[in-house]
Amino acid sequence: MEIFKGKVSYKGVAIGKIAEMAKNEVVVRRSHVEDVEAEFARYMEAKTKAQEQLAKLGEHAAKEIGPAEAEVFEVHSMMLDDFDDQVEEIVKEQTLNAEFAVAETADNTKKMLQAMDDNPYMQARAADIGDIANRVLKILNGWDGEDNSFTEEVLLFANDLAPSETVTLDKSKVLAFVTREGSTNSHTAILARTMNIPALCQCPVPADAAGKMGIVDGFTGQVFIDPDEETLAKYIKQREAEQEKQKLLLELKGKETVTKSGRKIKLYANIGGIGDLNFVKENDAAGIGLFRSEFLYLSSNDFPSEDEQFQAYRTVAEMMAGKEVVVRTLDIGADKQIDYFNLDKEDNPALGYRAIRICLSQEDIFRTQLRALYRASAYGNIDIMFPMITSVWEVKRCKEICEEVKAELTAQSIPFKDCSLGIMIETPAAVLIADELAELVDFFSIGTNDLTQYTCAIDRQNQHLERFFDAHHPAVLKAIRMTIEAGHRHNTWVGICGELGADPELTTSFVEWGIDELSMSPSSILPVRKIIRDMD
Ligand code: PEP
Ligand code: MG
Repeated sequence: MEIFKGKVSYKGVAIGKIAEMAKNEVVVRRSHVEDVEAEFARYMEAKTKAQEQLAKLGEHAAKEIGPAEAEVFEVHSMMLDDFDDQVEEIVKEQTLNAEFAVAETADNTKKMLQAMDDNPYMQARAADIGDIANRVLKILNGWDGEDNSFTEEVLLFANDLAPSETVTLDKSKVLAFVTREGSTNSHTAILARTMNIPALCQCPVPADAAGKMGIVDGFTGQVFIDPDEETLAKYIKQREAEQEKQKLLLELKGKETVTKSGRKIKLYANIGGIGDLNFVKENDAAGIGLFRSEFLYLSSNDFPSEDEQFQAYRTVAEMMAGKEVVVRTLDIGADKQIDYFNLDKEDNPALGYRAIRICLSQEDIFRTQLRALYRASAYGNIDIMFPMITSVWEVKRCKEICEEVKAELTAQSIPFKDCSLGIMIETPAAVLIADELAELVDFFSIGTNDLTQYTCAIDRQNQHLERFFDAHHPAVLKAIRMTIEAGHRHNTWVGICGELGADPELTTSFVEWGIDELSMSPSSILPVRKIIRDMD
C-alpha cells in the first residue's frame, strides 16, 4: 500500500479504480510562414471551432451541473476573443505560424495573471488560459473535439484538470479528482463541490497508478494506492456512513420535522459563531437553538466590545432571516477558561465561579452583552438564554437587568425587540424547582452535558471516568422528563441542546415525552429529522 497526501479541495470518501487523465499534449514548433493572411485565417477558423465547442460544453454543463458552471465556458470564449490582436500581430508582423502565435499569446496572458499575487481568483484563471490555448492548438493539429471517456467508475488522477476536461467527463463515472498541481480555488474544486465528489490538489500521486485500486480520503487529504484489507474495510464503512448521510440530505432537505400523526418538533442547530452558519443552511436547520456566545470571548484577546458583539449577533439574526436564534449568554469558567478574565484557580472549577455566577457578580460584562443582544434583536428573531441556573433569584435578577437594559435603550431611542427569555436546565437543582422557574421564563433548554455531570457527580472532562459517564443514566432521563412536564404545566416550551439531543437512540422517547425542540450540531439534523418523520 502506498499513501500520498495532498490539499483538500472538497470533502468525501471515494474508493475505486484509478484512471489517469489522458492529455492531448500539443508540441508547438516555431516556423515562418509566407502567406500571413491565410495563416491568420487558419487561426480564426480554429478559434471559431474552439468557441463552438465551448458553447456545446456550456450547454452540457448547464444541463448536467448548473448555470454557474456553464458561465465558465462563456468566459473562456470571451477570453479567446482577447487572443486575436496579439496572434494577428505575431502572425502578420513577425511572419510566424499560428500555433506559435497562440502559444506565445497564452504564455504572455498567463504571466500577467500569475503576477496578480494578491488575487487568487485571477491566478486560478491562469490555468484556464492554458486550457483554452490547448483547445485551439489541438484543433490546429486536426483534433475534432472528442475527450476522455471511461467505461467504469474511476478515481481520476491528473496533473491538473481544466474545467472543459472535467465537464466533458461522464460525471456518473468519476468518483474523485486528484491533481498533482492546481489550487483549491480552481474550477475543479468548484465543480467537485457541485458534483459532490471528493477532490484533492497538490497531491504527488505517481503517473503509473492507472488500473490499480485506490482510496481518496477528502477529509484527511490522503490517497491510498493498493490499500491493504484493513484500510479498505475501514473506508468502505466510512463511505457507507457518508453515503447514508448524503442520501438523507437529499431526501429530507426542505421537509418539515413532523411525525406521521402531525406532531411538529423544532429541529435547531448549535453553533459557536458565524462561521458555522453555512452548515446550518446546508443541513436545513429550522433555527438556532444554542449560540454558544462564549466563543466570541474565547477568540478574542480582550473583552469583546458592545459593538463587536452587536455585529456578530446581528449577522446571525439577519442570516437566519427571521428564524428563531437562541443566544446563550456568556458561559465561561470550568473547562472554558479565558486569561483576560483573570479568574482565580479553584479546587472545584465545575462547581465554581462560572457562567451566570460570573455575569451576576461582574454585571458590567453582563450588561454589555445584553445591550448588544437587545440591539441585534431588532434585526431578526433573537431569544436570550441564561446558563447554569440553580435558583429562582438568579432568574429574577437576570430579568431585572434585562428590564434595565431595555429601559436604557428606550431612553436612547435605540430600537430593540422584547426577546423571549429562557434558561438552561443543567443542574439537578433547576430540575427540582422547574415549576417555579417555568413561571418566570418563556422556554427551557436542557443542557444534558452538564446535567449528566452534576446529576451523576462525574467530571465530564475526565477521560478516566468515561465508563462511568452514562448520559443514558435513568436519573438523567428522569430529570429530562420531569423538566418537560414542569415546563408544560406552565406553558413554557422545552428543548434539549446538550449532546443527548442528537442521540438517535433517544429521539423517539424525547418526542413521546413531549419535547418541543431539539438542538444539535448541524450534521445530526437530517438523521434526527428522519427518525421523527418515521414516527407515528
Ligand atoms: C450542556 O451542558 O449540555 C450544554 C449544552 O452546554 P455546554 O456543553 O456548552 O456546557
Ligand atoms: Mg452546559
